[in-house]
Parts: sequence; structure tokens; C-alpha cells
Amino acid sequence: MALDFSLAEVHNVDMPKEEQMIKPSLEEQKRHLIEGVSSCLVCGDSPISGTFTDYDGELKCHKCGMPYQTEGNKIKPTELERKYGLRPEEVAKVYTPYFVNVPILKRFWLETGKEIPLGIFDGSEAPFTEEEHVALWLFVWSIRSEISEQWADDFAWYNISVMAGEPLDMEA
Ligand SMILES: [Zn+2]
Repeated sequence: MALDFSLAEVHNVDMPKEEQMIKPSLEEQKRHLIEGVSSCLVCGDSPISGTFTDYDGELKCHKCGMPYQTEGNKIKPTELERKYGLRPEEVAKVYTPYFVNVPILKRFWLETGKEIPLGIFDGSEAPFTEEEHVALWLFVWSIRSEISEQWADDFAWYNISVMAGEPLDMEA
């Protein structure tokens, strides 16, 4: 049975924002892949439940839309080895490929009340629109001063700046 936490308890919303905006280290990312997850990292729902997307084993949390992989490793073995020094069989059954972005996604969910518009959909029944997807990137742009240094290599910042109508000067 899911526990009825208040949002403040689950998300530490009283914490200074800077403390929440700390990118998980490579070591933490590796630990997440090995240990996996049972409660939703964004909304705290436990156990994780939701709807499967068209991508093999991918499930979106029914409450916040956070995507999880539920059938073990789906990362390319070469990348898994190069980045984390892990073998496919060492990866937990349930993890999220978006772990590194959890602080940002959690804040997006808390501040906008919108579901996380991520996940891989091959079919025509994607439960989020292009507009909803863009909303996430506009949010990322709105908090760039807090996150662009830590997440410098994680996002296509130039593309995001174009979406926001404030193209970065690449000569700078
Ligand atoms: Zn959730």
C-alpha cells in the first residue's frame, strides 16, 4: 500500500534550493545502477507502478510520469563498461536511465505540477505532447544559472537556448 506522505516530507521542499540542485556523482550513478530503486525518486510513490511505454520494459510512474526501466540493463554494454566499469548482469532490474537528472526533474514536478514528459514512445499514443516536452526544456532554461555548470555536458544547451528564443552566442 502506498504511504500518504506530504509533498514537503518527501521532497524536502524546505531545503534551500541550491542543496537540492546537486548533480549525482559518477559514484552515485553507479550505485543507483547496481542497487536499483523501489520507490519513485521524484514523487516518492512506493512501490513504483504505472504504465508501460512502447519501449521494452520502460514504465512511467502513474503519479509523476518519471520513466523507469524494469527489465534490467538496457545501456549499451560498451558504454556501461566505459562509463561505470559495470557488466550488464551487475545492473539492477529496476532503475532509471534519467538518474543523473533526478534533482531537476523533481523540481520540475514540484514547481510546475506537470508530469515528467520523458520516455521513449514508438507508437502514436504518446501520453505527452511536443508542447509538454518543450515545457521541460523551458524550465531547465529558466533555472540554468543554478544548473548549467554541473550539467554542462548533460544537455544540448544550444538547442535549449534556441527553444527558449534566446540563442546562445557560440562564438563567446
Ligand atoms: Zn513518481
